[in-house]
Amino acid sequence: MPNLLLLPGDGIGPEVCAEVRRVAERLTNDIAIDERLFGGISLDTHGAPLTDETLAAAKAADAVLMGAVGGPKWDGVPRALRAETGLLKLRSGMQVFANLRPAICFPALADASSLKRELVEGLDIMIVRELTGGVYFGQPRGIETLPDGQRRGFDTQVYTTSEIERIARVAFELARKRRNLVHSAEKSNVMESGLLWREVVTDLHKREYADVELRHILADAAAMHIVRDPRQFDVLVTDNLFGDILSDEAAQLTGSLGMLPSAAIGAPGMPGLYEPIHGSAPDIAGQGIANPLAAILSYEMALRWSFGRHETADRLSAAVTRALDKGARTRDIGGSLTTRQMGDAVLAEL
Ligand code: NAD
Repeated sequence: MPNLLLLPGDGIGPEVCAEVRRVAERLTNDIAIDERLFGGISLDTHGAPLTDETLAAAKAADAVLMGAVGGPKWDGVPRALRAETGLLKLRSGMQVFANLRPAICFPALADASSLKRELVEGLDIMIVRELTGGVYFGQPRGIETLPDGQRRGFDTQVYTTSEIERIARVAFELARKRRNLVHSAEKSNVMESGLLWREVVTDLHKREYADVELRHILADAAAMHIVRDPRQFDVLVTDNLFGDILSDEAAQLTGSLGMLPSAAIGAPGMPGLYEPIHGSAPDIAGQGIANPLAAILSYEMALRWSFGRHETADRLSAAVTRALDKGARTRDIGGSLTTRQMGDAVLAEL
């Protein structure tokens, strides 16, 4: 039987994952669900944010869906034991190098955006962020003390041809199924890795994807255009660091962090990692008021990308849209439903 590993994590993670479980049990009772500790709670219980057993279970699953990890309780722990370190280890252990972050504006929520309705209505951007390379992983890195007593912190931004090519390929393939347009963002004007990025993307485009329209854009210009006229973008491919920033920026256009899912995928046949883009939201954790839709829509992405169940995924996304159209709202999107009631609203539409 295909299986899903749930890693609810910390803060609101378990609250939103409980709703994923209810939806999954209704929609796909032929997919087995296993659940394990991850993040701060795993550190407290097992002494590590990601144990070897959990990593092995993640690699053996068909898909992994996590809630969120971290929180103020663990802010002071050494870097090696931090929840974020566990998350980086999970992503690199699963070899999920492509992070797909849709920024979709649901019609019912267009007024919740910080931009005017006419700029965001119908917005549908797919940001493809490289996830296992670049400055978050490059060596050397560290903080050293210089002979004059100053301290110096350094990281290394590094990309190889094959790393760039495989992420660009994901972007081109996606664009073919969408509006056939790829923007590739880097800083080739000031960074060598950016120059290589542009060359490799151009070359791959010429060789294999000439039917897709390709536009190069500097990452800072992309940041500006995302708030000026976001609908000009279809697929935007970029590196780990710029993707981290640009995808959060695009997410904000849609009104709430509580609405946006993400997928991290690797080579075909490898398990995907699905997660809402929000964090553990310590400010509202334990109150039962978190919006579970980002997590539920992450499950929808898993149905598509890991389980190949496109019809079921369509049913789920239609149910979410109908629930919103009928006015279902948690507090973050201007309503008063609890997490559980929002889950009920989606279940009712299924
Ligand atoms: P956050 O996303 O947790 O919260 C930002 C704001 O958005 C908060 O006001 C929060 O209440 C609200 N919010 C987030 N998700 C929501 C939801 N589903 N429903 C309603 N409101 C929601 O970001 P943060 O406050 O910067 O980080 C909190 C903790 O989460 C930190 O420890 C951080 O390291 C961690 N974090 C984890 C991940 C992850 O697990 N992938 C991602 C980002 C942050």
